[in-house]
Amino acid sequence: MQLGIVAHEIHRPRDHSVEGLMGIAPDRIDWARREVIEAKAGAGARAAVSWQTRFYAIMLMAATGARWSAANEIIGGRKHIVVEIGLASIVEMVAMAECLVRMRSAPLPPAAPRKPICASCSYRFLCGHV
Ligand code: SF4
Repeated sequence: MQLGIVAHEIHRPRDHSVEGLMGIAPDRIDWARREVIEAKAGAGARAAVSWQTRFYAIMLMAATGARWSAANEIIGGRKHIVVEIGLASIVEMVAMAECLVRMRSAPLPPAAPRKPICASCSYRFLCGHV
């Protein structure tokens, strides 16, 4: 993970305008176009990265009261992929937030089955999949 962070910093200078932004940390923001951009190294985990970028845009909409758009960029490939933010995705995001609020008030986290990705997960010490 550390190697990936360093490679990312070297490859693309960080957009310092996103620092101190309500605790969210998108890779880049085009303030003039009100577009939040998350860069990714490859085509993998596309759905997860799309949801991450959509989350940032929805948070900025809530904070500013203005419409924001979202996009993912493939580093090196110069690909700019628009992330759709429709009513259905906003409703789904609110449902996820409500689920998180319920989990937060639960005495224990829900049990999570072990998956192949657990071996390299940075949080495995929290759920015991070491
Ligand atoms: S180790 Fe990571 S990926 Fe596996 S269940 Fe725990 S948090 Fe999820």
